[in-house]
Order: sequence, then C-alpha cells, then structure tokens
Amino acid sequence: MTRTNTTTTEAAPTSATAAKGGAATQSRPEPRPIEELTALAEAGARELAGDPGNGVPEANPADVIRWVSRNFDTAACAVACSMADAALPHYVAQYQPGVDVLFLDTGYHFRETYDTRDEVARRVDVHIVDVLPEQTVEEQDAEFGKDLFARDPGLCCARRKVAPLKKSLKGYELWFTGVRRDEAPTRTNTPLITFDEKNGLVKVNPLAAWSFDDLLDYSRAFDVPVNPLLDQGYPSIGCQPCTRPVAEGEDPRAGRWAGSTKTECGLHT
Ligand code: SF4
Repeated sequence: MTRTNTTTTEAAPTSATAAKGGAATQSRPEPRPIEELTALAEAGARELAGDPGNGVPEANPADVIRWVSRNFDTAACAVACSMADAALPHYVAQYQPGVDVLFLDTGYHFRETYDTRDEVARRVDVHIVDVLPEQTVEEQDAEFGKDLFARDPGLCCARRKVAPLKKSLKGYELWFTGVRRDEAPTRTNTPLITFDEKNGLVKVNPLAAWSFDDLLDYSRAFDVPVNPLLDQGYPSIGCQPCTRPVAEGEDPRAGRWAGSTKTECGLHT
C-alpha cells in the first residue's frame, strides 16, 4: 500500500518508525493499572501546582519533566509533537533521552513540517514515530469524496488525527503535549498534569505557562529546530489546507480552520 508520506531518517542518529493506524511498534512494559496512574496524576498535580496565593509559584517545565522522570520509565512515555517547533521534545530528551515522539502524519502537512520532523530526528535524541491514519488521502477521497476537510473538518480530523493518536497512545502510561494557555481561550485552564480519561493515561503539559516568546527564546538558546513557517506568519501550524497565516495582533490560532466555527482538532478537548 502506498503511503502519502514516509519517514526519511536513514542518516539520523535516532531511529524512526512508521505506525499504520496509530499502532506504535516499540515494545514496552505493561502499563500500571488505571487507578494507580490516576492517583499518580493527582499527586503530581498537587505537588507541582504550588500555592501562588501564598507566594509559592507553580512548577517550571524542568520541575515537571523531572517529576515525570522520577515516576515513569522513559519507555512508558510519549511526546506528541506537531513539528511546529521541537522545544518540548528537546526539553524532555534532556531527562528522558531516546523518548518516543509521536508525529501525526495526516498526509496534509506543509513540506516545511516534514522537513522539521527530519531535522528533529537528526539533531535531537528522540525516537520519531510517524503515526499514520488507517487510510491514505487517496483512499479517504475514494470513500468520502475529495477534500473531506473542506466539507466536514470534524470527520477529517477524527479520522486522521484523533483516532490514530488514541490508538498510538495505547501501551504508554503518560504523554507530554506542548499545549500552552496563551494559545487560545479554549486552552486558558490547561493544567500541568491531569489524568486523560479519554485516552486512559496521564497527560502532562510542561509548557502550559509559556508564551510564544518563551518558546522562541528556548529554541534559540538551545539551537532547537523550528518550523520556518513560524517566521512567516504562522504561529500555529496544522495541516496545509486548514492553516493560513495570521495578522499582527490576531489570536495565534486564528489561522486554523479560518472561516469555520471549528477551533480545535479534538486532540485536547
Ligand atoms: S486539520 Fe484539516 S486536513 Fe488536517 S486532519 Fe483536520 S480537517 Fe483534515
């Protein structure tokens, strides 16, 4: 079967895997029971929340990732990355070298996004897993008609992002995301740590309190790969047909599904 995109990482110091239908191929220990993971997430949330009202700040990203490293094996953790930037994979790899990084390869990404993924595989100590939908773009076109994203983006995201991610997360105990509170009103209350009921594992958002500038500052300071589109008016980068550049002062996610009421792909809602 022809895939719309393949990983090109033969020269990379890290290995890469293409996981059809979202099933990652790394072997890892059996996850601990849900009750145990829920209790761990609650304990972590309490420990890292601080007490801002009494002058104890919320934990910073390094504290959060260190907490994860103390409580979870690297093989039990995954980092979700859209390849808009690689700050999160780079940060996590300082404490969990070789960690799996899940890239949802929808088949609709910008060329620059695939190039960034390949650059991350070459330069960051992580293991890239390309998570593929069950159907290629051509197969989806044949079943649902051409350009499903233009007629029913909810269904397109469900088939090309949400379902593959859910499947790929099976077997892990914890996933990291790069969600930030400043990205959109829908993300204002993002916690550092929570139990993700929908996917059945712990969800950690170490960069929740960061601004877009914090992200760029970190990437510059540590020479971390960033998607060149970030400098071309795309502060939030998704699939090419559903992403446009934003104007100065616009909401960073205003360019996602512009012209429709859709604001989230469903991965974090
Ligand atoms: S962002 Fe657009 S192209 Fe990508 S999966 Fe969602 S609807 Fe489809």
